[in-house]
Amino acid sequence: MMEKYALSKSTFIRGLQCKKKLYLYKHHYNLKDNISPQSQAIFNQGSKVGILAQDLFPNGADASPSSHFKIQESVVKTKEFIENGETIIYEATFQFNGVLVALDVLVKQKDGWKAYEVKSSSRVSDTNIKDAAIQYYTIINCGIKLKDISIIHINSQYVKDGDINIQKLFTIESVSNRIQQLLPEIPKQIEEFKKVLLNKSVPDIGIGEHCSKPYNCDFKGHCWKHIPEYSIFDISGLRNPKKFKLYENGVINFEQIDLHSSYLNPNQLLQVNSELENKSFIDKPKIKDFIEDLNYPLYFLDFETMSTAVPIFNYSRPYQQLVFQYSLHILNVDNQITHHQYLAESNPNIDPRKTFTKRLIKECGNTGDIIVYNISFERGKLEDLINLYPEYKTKLNKVIARLKDLAVPFKKKWYYVPEMKGNYTIKAVLPALVPNMSYLDLEIKEGETASTTFGLMVNGQFKGDYNKTREALLEYCKRDTLAMVEIYSVLKKIL
Ligand code: SF4
Repeated sequence: MMEKYALSKSTFIRGLQCKKKLYLYKHHYNLKDNISPQSQAIFNQGSKVGILAQDLFPNGADASPSSHFKIQESVVKTKEFIENGETIIYEATFQFNGVLVALDVLVKQKDGWKAYEVKSSSRVSDTNIKDAAIQYYTIINCGIKLKDISIIHINSQYVKDGDINIQKLFTIESVSNRIQQLLPEIPKQIEEFKKVLLNKSVPDIGIGEHCSKPYNCDFKGHCWKHIPEYSIFDISGLRNPKKFKLYENGVINFEQIDLHSSYLNPNQLLQVNSELENKSFIDKPKIKDFIEDLNYPLYFLDFETMSTAVPIFNYSRPYQQLVFQYSLHILNVDNQITHHQYLAESNPNIDPRKTFTKRLIKECGNTGDIIVYNISFERGKLEDLINLYPEYKTKLNKVIARLKDLAVPFKKKWYYVPEMKGNYTIKAVLPALVPNMSYLDLEIKEGETASTTFGLMVNGQFKGDYNKTREALLEYCKRDTLAMVEIYSVLKKIL
């Protein structure tokens, strides 16, 4: 019978972030926050990338367990594979000193064993190095003389052209040198974490910057319960060290803030004063200039994009945000409004960008301003389309030249009401300015869900009512541009 392991690679990493995070995970798992569909989609994408990367070393022996609960099977299988002379092992699993690690690919080459860990990110992070260090420590202590350990990550510069070229899609980066300085600390850290886990009570650790570094902790719902929904942590643009300094001095609510001290800039003070006095701040001359600068007809435009680790369409890169949908409300000078929209077919064999470009150019006409919310996003996507289709350069540049940003009055706090709670996103501004309109009645309520949902549809992984969900996507994007029309009307009315 094998000794029961106390730690895995991921729980070790949890312990490095916060010992309480490790303890709660092991002893109070039920307190963990629910995983969001977006996080789940990222996780699934990671698993897919891991499997694809195995093709860099084809025909390996798979040491995966028959179920997640039977991980010890993998330790046995790995040992047997090595004894039987296998030279490529997937999910090679090792256990030493109460730590169990599963490595994505272990390869025996002429000069010795090499370890490869796959990450779906596009660069090697500090956490990846820590992760590789605990793997290296465990594997060499199991008697495998590792020559090298590498991280295989996505090459964000790869451009798909035909079938996926996995040699180009992935970058293999040796991290052997970078882990060396971490190795001497590991035995001490393991002992410390084991001791923490043996304690009868939860470690007494308060909230701090570690709650979101390097990852957003999945026990925030539990540890942050005492922080009200709107607090000093919501002061816009205030950096974390300042927020936690305030918190450590007992300041959580706006009432506790010393308004005479100098740690808040004028916009942050405006947010605090607005909340304390329940007061709106409206800079009419600035808003007047903004509104008078707009030229009819007004085109209210919004894009939705999707991105995947492994590019789906030719001439696209990993994680590139690709347009698949837009909504366009056109408001004439006589207040007549029309709506146009485009939603791509969710088919991996049909690149939506050309039809999107042609339709958009046609529907945007030639005169009038095109109003977006956060100009850099739409402008960036239009510039991507110019790079892809130089034949539309002149027309797309004309669209870009007509763009105006409706977020500006809110970003610059020319218009601020307490309900905006320091936020200038359209989701915060709409209910504050147009109380009878929100996103709450929609099935898809925010852009990330739209993006993930469409991505799943294209990948053929979507489970649900296809037609109903396409309707929901259309409704969501339409709400964004309708919201802009309404926000614009409110701004106009105050003049
Ligand atoms: S929320 Fe913060 S304090 Fe609580 S377990 Fe996570 S990292 Fe630790």
